[in-house]
Amino acid sequence: MIAQEFAYTAPTNLKDALALLGGENTKVLAGGMSLIPLMKLRLAAPEQLVDIGRIPELNYIREDGGKLRIGATTTHYQVESSALLRSRCPLLAEAASCIGDIQVRNQGTIGGSIAHADPAADYPASLLALEAKMVLASAKGQREVAAVDFFVDTFTTALGAGEIVKEVIVPVEEQSAGTSYQKMLQPASGFAIVGVAARIRKSGGKITLAWVGVTGLSGKPYRAMSVEKALEGTAGGTVDIDKAAGTVAEGVDANSDLFASAQYRGHLARIYARRALTVAISRTA
Ligand code: FAD
Repeated sequence: MIAQEFAYTAPTNLKDALALLGGENTKVLAGGMSLIPLMKLRLAAPEQLVDIGRIPELNYIREDGGKLRIGATTTHYQVESSALLRSRCPLLAEAASCIGDIQVRNQGTIGGSIAHADPAADYPASLLALEAKMVLASAKGQREVAAVDFFVDTFTTALGAGEIVKEVIVPVEEQSAGTSYQKMLQPASGFAIVGVAARIRKSGGKITLAWVGVTGLSGKPYRAMSVEKALEGTAGGTVDIDKAAGTVAEGVDANSDLFASAQYRGHLARIYARRALTVAISRTA
């Protein structure tokens, strides 16, 4: 199908872009990987598109005071292949490498993915495990929102009218930490039927800190605190991992669709939590 007619603007700086946003039927266009199909299906019919893909100041990956800052229009491929991220925050690079196919990764952006908030998207599990922050900008100023508050519900985020995701902030990972993102992918699209990100710190033979983020299982991504609590203080052996992973779907209202029933998704979540924890622990120094 062909999209409804719309006006198109491609500002070359952030200030001009923000000045154009805020109208009821105005939408940001980034990589277009999610928005354009929706427009073609007429599930979205914006009257004006503001293309932020030509704003150089939104495309960067840099280290700054113990943190890594990733501009909104940084593509999944740039995240996946960044030497800085691969060495300083490998979990995010690993999650990006699992997104769709190379065409999608070359075109889609980190800002677009998280703003879209598809419940099967890959980044959210890792961003929750990393306790990432999103910098949201509007013509009135900017604010920081923690990942846990950013993902509100299915296709719903904390973004307000006229606001865009300007950048994502993640911590520089401790050298001794181990991380892993493991997903069961939908064979046609590559989206996560279930995806689990694990981030582990170990000292003196014991797990001192664990962060676990889950995507695909329910309507919104979440931190699996029960898994984290069950693992912390243990030696992180097979029995500890099994016990902790077994709690990942507890109390969660699991999605059910053509690809996987709620019960099967719960089962997959336990399997993929076990895999992510096992690999992350094996990567601790
Ligand atoms: P767009 O499509 O341009 O925009 C998406 C939405 O976000 C729109 O509502 C837009 O207005 C808004 N938006 C965009 N940028 C911003 C911003 N900076 N601030 C505020 N709002 C903004 N994703 C996965 O996670 N895993 C997969 O395996 C996967 N497989 C895919 C397979 C296919 C075949 C396709 C087409 C997509 C797949 N995706 C997958 C989705 C892909 O990651 C998209 O890139 C992403 O969902 C949207 O990013 P975009 O830059 O293309 O955004």
